Amino acid sequence: MRPNIPSREKPNPAHRYLSDGGRRTRVVATIGPASDSPAVLSAMQEAGMDVARLPLAHGSIDEAVARLRRVREAAPDVGVLVDLPGPKIRTTPFPEGGVTLTPGSEVLICPQGLAPNSNEDKIGVSVPELVESLQEGDRIALGDGGVSMVAERRDGYSMVSRVLSGGKVQGRPGVTAPASRLALKTPTPEDIERLEVLLGEGIESVAVSFVRTAADLETVKAMVGGNVLVCAKMETPEAVGDMDNILRVADTVMVARGDLGVRVPFEEVPHIQKALIRSCIAWGRPVITATQMLESMVSSPVPTRAEVTDVANAVFDGTSAVMLSGESAIGVDPVNAVATMARIARRADLDFDSYQWGRNLPAQHFAAEGAAGAKITAAIGAAAWRASVEEKASVIIACTNTGATARAIARYRPACPIVAATPFSFTARQLTTSWGIDTVLVPEAKSTDEAVDSGVETARSAGYVKPGDVVVVLAGSLHDPAAPVTDTLRLVRIY
Ligand code: PEP
Repeated sequence: MRPNIPSREKPNPAHRYLSDGGRRTRVVATIGPASDSPAVLSAMQEAGMDVARLPLAHGSIDEAVARLRRVREAAPDVGVLVDLPGPKIRTTPFPEGGVTLTPGSEVLICPQGLAPNSNEDKIGVSVPELVESLQEGDRIALGDGGVSMVAERRDGYSMVSRVLSGGKVQGRPGVTAPASRLALKTPTPEDIERLEVLLGEGIESVAVSFVRTAADLETVKAMVGGNVLVCAKMETPEAVGDMDNILRVADTVMVARGDLGVRVPFEEVPHIQKALIRSCIAWGRPVITATQMLESMVSSPVPTRAEVTDVANAVFDGTSAVMLSGESAIGVDPVNAVATMARIARRADLDFDSYQWGRNLPAQHFAAEGAAGAKITAAIGAAAWRASVEEKASVIIACTNTGATARAIARYRPACPIVAATPFSFTARQLTTSWGIDTVLVPEAKSTDEAVDSGVETARSAGYVKPGDVVVVLAGSLHDPAAPVTDTLRLVRIY
């Protein structure tokens, strides 16, 4: 049954549950040339974009800053996720319009100095060490792996290779070869330079590409200083093998199925997706499922049925968010792609078995041994979920400064809406990556009672609460602002 949604003149993205048919799963949209105009960005926010992802792989830092400012202006309620490209190895440019590589043909793989431009006979590679490290029998893939070659024999600095699976290649596709032999560091010095500039713009989240160990994330965590959420893009087999240590450090996670699917056999991708989502839930980390979700919408107005099913299945797996890449960055109709993604998620959310999910939730993992505050927050979260079920609560209100209290209850995927009552619009935008959290802005509270009262009152004026309802409220005590703990659970009957 669809929830009873009050009609509104204009959807309020901060109140997604009320304004978007009860949708709980969030939509992340990648911004690119097709979605750069203020009119398109604003329409994307209204259509359901919760988070704007800004990839830094192409263009200058000045262009990235200008794009970020356009997003702020046109879509002020969405969170911004800046994506650091990391050590992505690319070919030198193929000619305009691309070339077709034919299966069985011979092609020379060279350092970029020997092939500043690529064609059917010669492919230049931006990192010469990759060509040096190639051995006979190695597989080399271009782009998302559709085109691949096998290394046959060395010819000086180059490697003669044979095309195994052919196809059209254009632009500067990524190059993948056996990864473990090349120890390229992430984040790269360019990533760090760019991040320093963007931190000055007040971004909510930053994604780190090609993470292999928790240490790769620590560098970025140290730079952002605790305020900005750090997202681990899981796209290497090493990261998948070290999932728990990475999740201990990461604030959020992206299942980056594109690069992952060329580094592991593609039939492993759905299993890794499920395992990662399960682990993220155990660690209480929001998780974004990404790449090729509605790929055909790069050029088509409707998705394939397989794509629709892929998005719905990610919702059933328990993902917090689903992501659009090329569909919204370079596609024919980014607004339609967002609306389509939101529509599929909204329908899938209706069939999500919230009660069984909450009942069977695995115990929460904690980042630090003996994390007393985190354990109290987790215990109070469990009690809040149970109370919301027993009392058929109309809403769970999480009074929160940093967003941690709201994230702790989102892990339970409760059937009733979660409203984060926060004094900070930055926290509100950060929570747009989390499953099912709407936000209301409240004044800063001086006591727990004041926080509870203003949370309930503001949720009531926003339309979440009516007389006769029971409301579950979570709040922190204000004893130690440096180590906030959610330690108050209150059930409030509304008169
Ligand atoms: C991916 O590889 O799936 C991904 C999201 O990363 P990118 O788009 O940066 O290649």
